[in-house]
Amino acid sequence: MTLQEFTATVLKTRGALAETDGAALQLVLPPELASRVGLREYQQLLFDPSTDSTTAPEDAVRVDHDSPLVETLGSLLDPATRLAFVDAPFPPLKPIDPVQELERGVTIRNGVVRLRESVSVRTIYFCFVMEYEALADERRGGLVELWINPDAGSVADWPGFVLETAEPRDGSLVSDLRPRLQAAAALASRAADSVVRHRLEDFLGSLERRRTGDLRRLREYFDGIHSEIRRKVQRATRPETRASEVHRLEATAGGYRARVADVVERYAARVRLWPLAVIACTAPAYRFKVQLLRRKVSSEVTFSWNALNRALEPRCCDGCARPIRAADLCDDQAHYLCDRCFSPCPTCGRRYCRACHTRCPRRHE
Ligand SMILES: [Zn+2]
Ligand SMILES: [Zn+2]
Ligand SMILES: [Zn+2]
Repeated sequence: MTLQEFTATVLKTRGALAETDGAALQLVLPPELASRVGLREYQQLLFDPSTDSTTAPEDAVRVDHDSPLVETLGSLLDPATRLAFVDAPFPPLKPIDPVQELERGVTIRNGVVRLRESVSVRTIYFCFVMEYEALADERRGGLVELWINPDAGSVADWPGFVLETAEPRDGSLVSDLRPRLQAAAALASRAADSVVRHRLEDFLGSLERRRTGDLRRLREYFDGIHSEIRRKVQRATRPETRASEVHRLEATAGGYRARVADVVERYAARVRLWPLAVIACTAPAYRFKVQLLRRKVSSEVTFSWNALNRALEPRCCDGCARPIRAADLCDDQAHYLCDRCFSPCPTCGRRYCRACHTRCPRRHE
């Protein structure tokens, strides 16, 4: 989701009219809303930093991730949940072959997946809009949104424009709203962490490479000084010369440690993630009741196939909540696991389930 889509969606749920015009939003705000967000009743917002300011209207407001408006938008919503309901247009559900769709949409590497039932439903989705920021010697930030389906524990991969034509609606009729929102929030916070780390892969990788390079140069530099002083110590004939060179050797080692600490500090990345808003809507979907079988154990889970993606939604890993399409099942409870959450123990080399155990269950003697 872009900042522009997020801004339009939140303002529309509060009674604004928002018209998208390229990288700009044309807003008509009720007077009370306008004063709460500190904008005019007729307002243009610009989201593209490269927009030429000479051609832009004089009273247009530029918005980026650092704008106070972004925080203000979140505070317009219910302070406890930051929840807004919308109605978004979805294509109708067409008949499908559920067995084939299940086969196409999920791979169980060490077990069997069996379809028990497929029913057509209207499913609730919560779109968690979060802002993230990574700080090191430079800064990287953006918005991440996750469409969580709490009933299936899955994540729908919907484009931001789903919300472009969304209309506000009353959500008070949704049944079991609280527990579903709580289940979705628990999944969202864990899944977002892995999604953001994935998105920052280049940034974090470049930090790691530069840190390694700086540390290597530092070591080479101090190695040079060190061996030079050692040669002087060996050649020194007078005890006081030798003592002063030994003293220099110690000072050099201390200097090296301090410089290493500087480099480690300079490239340490602090990643922050905080929620801005939750947008709820319902969509037509098929709900699959599915049995996962691993040797003698089995588990009953739900998968969801929605009309917009026309595909099965990836379910969240039972260990880390990362949405995945290929999974392993654990031996004890047939948990649905990503490769990291079923990876071998570094000590004994045996695989174990990170949903069943926080550490390797075998004794290492
Ligand atoms: Zn996992
Ligand atoms: Zn082990
Ligand atoms: Zn398990």
